[in-house]
Amino acid sequence: MSNSIKKKEDKEKTEDVLKALSKKSYEHEFYTPLPPGYEAGRTKFIIITGSVMSGLGKGIFSASLARVLEDYGLRASPMKFDGYLNVDAGTLNPYRHGEVFVLDSGLECDMDLGTYERFLDKNLGDENYLTGGKIFTRVLSMERKGKYLGRDVQFIPHVTGEIKRFVRTLALNTKADVVLIEVGGTVGDIENQYFIEAMRQLAYEEGRDNTCFVNLTYILEPRFLGEQKSKAAQLGIRRLMGLGVQPDIIACRATNPVSEKVREKISIYSNVPFKNVLSMHDRESIYYVPDMIREAKLDRVVLETLNITNAREDKKRREMWASFVERLKNRKREITIGITGKYTGVRDSYASILKALEHAGASLRTKVNVKWIETTEIERKPEILEEKMSGVDAIVVPGGFGKRGSDGKIMCVRYARENRIPFLGLCFGFQMAIVEFARDVCGLDGANSTELDKETPYPVIDLLPEQKKIEGLGGNMRLGGFDVSVSKNTLAFKLYKDTTIRERFRHRYECNPKYIKLLEEKGLVFSGRSPKHEIMQILELPDHPFFIATQFHPEFTSRPLRPNPLFKGIVEAAISRKEKK
Ligand code: GLN
Repeated sequence: MSNSIKKKEDKEKTEDVLKALSKKSYEHEFYTPLPPGYEAGRTKFIIITGSVMSGLGKGIFSASLARVLEDYGLRASPMKFDGYLNVDAGTLNPYRHGEVFVLDSGLECDMDLGTYERFLDKNLGDENYLTGGKIFTRVLSMERKGKYLGRDVQFIPHVTGEIKRFVRTLALNTKADVVLIEVGGTVGDIENQYFIEAMRQLAYEEGRDNTCFVNLTYILEPRFLGEQKSKAAQLGIRRLMGLGVQPDIIACRATNPVSEKVREKISIYSNVPFKNVLSMHDRESIYYVPDMIREAKLDRVVLETLNITNAREDKKRREMWASFVERLKNRKREITIGITGKYTGVRDSYASILKALEHAGASLRTKVNVKWIETTEIERKPEILEEKMSGVDAIVVPGGFGKRGSDGKIMCVRYARENRIPFLGLCFGFQMAIVEFARDVCGLDGANSTELDKETPYPVIDLLPEQKKIEGLGGNMRLGGFDVSVSKNTLAFKLYKDTTIRERFRHRYECNPKYIKLLEEKGLVFSGRSPKHEIMQILELPDHPFFIATQFHPEFTSRPLRPNPLFKGIVEAAISRKEKK
């Protein structure tokens, strides 16, 4: 049968199934609401699950696969499902769950969305992120409005139906050729079971040619045995099959390349052809994963499974990524940047900053080493400050909340200012730079942020006016992308080369407008402001080699192929400081 006839037949079959399932009726058992205008068979779906354990790098794998598919000229839309009952990631503690990433839309989400944005070099929206909390909020509000026609509202079909609606809406709105769905957590968790069930139904409704299930599993290699063991993986995959999902591809994560013997065992055990069981062992950098996918021919297997026959590789796009990887591999020099923070042991809570430094470093062929500076320690023993700063070519004071460690951060800012060390302050770091300047240069003893000291005589950082009325903590900071007006003849303008930029925010406090005049008189320059309100967004010190801080988070917009100018700036400043020494 010719391919186009088969494709047409498949499409008609999918259309028939969907028509039957989506008719509105009180009596039948199905609930498959289709978004208006949804075209069956137009979009293909790849569903990525994890077995054995979490932390396998499903986000990096999904992002890399999406990247590879985009290099074939396909439009890829990634989405992440998180099973927890939080509506978004805003109320999650970054020290437990990793960084809270912020989209331009203002959505606070899982850090995997940051990985997708960086790998695909495009902005994502609310429709790319779903949580258990979001789905249940919708189901319960639909129930209150009587939208389920008097039915008893159930996990199947209603919760699963809303999930499918969400996934198809993403496909429709983004005109995606391929939607990649990363299922958070591990197969076997209670939290994602209904989601996997929804994906099983999706595959049934859309047709086998339009869906592809990839399971990322883990191959153990205990040191005391010195050999790879596949049992945990087998059992994990069986668990998935027990949910009615037959995987098409198994990607085996492991420390070392996975042996043929182990892959054969997995193949037999799971009904997956041997050529579809692939080794995805550790590499030095996550940026090598797209190449690894191509080397393992996983791209071909995915295209075959989805019956995509007309995709051709776009050499130009592939080369752009390759040139970034080449710069990462061949670096000429190294520098060390100190990052201050509390709980600096939890690297994931500063993920985007580390990535932004990596992007800037690669563009300048420089390896950026990071020295963590625990500010709670400096508070306890101020005499160790000097030693902590030794060997550091630049200092970044990142975002943060609350009093603990804040005085230590202020000491680090002062050290950078007085010793002319390149300094970049981010959000809380911007606020601490103002407090430090107010105390030391303006002579305002006891100046502080009202977040840290409600009784301060000089509240140089205070709640944003709109924040004074808000109660509760979820999703109500000043969030998301806003324009920033940059003044000419400033360091900010030199770096951004533009008078209007757009960056992402996540804060409740701001520089108190009452103190702006005094701070400026004493030499602080506000080089970036909100075009509409009196909110100060970038500050700098003109008589310092590189001292700049921002109320926004530039780390969220840095991309491998387009490093954020501020990060590029601080790496450059660190290089020239080191070379002058
Ligand atoms: N805690 C500060 C505020 O709410 C800074 C927030 C941040 O660093 N993201 O404004």
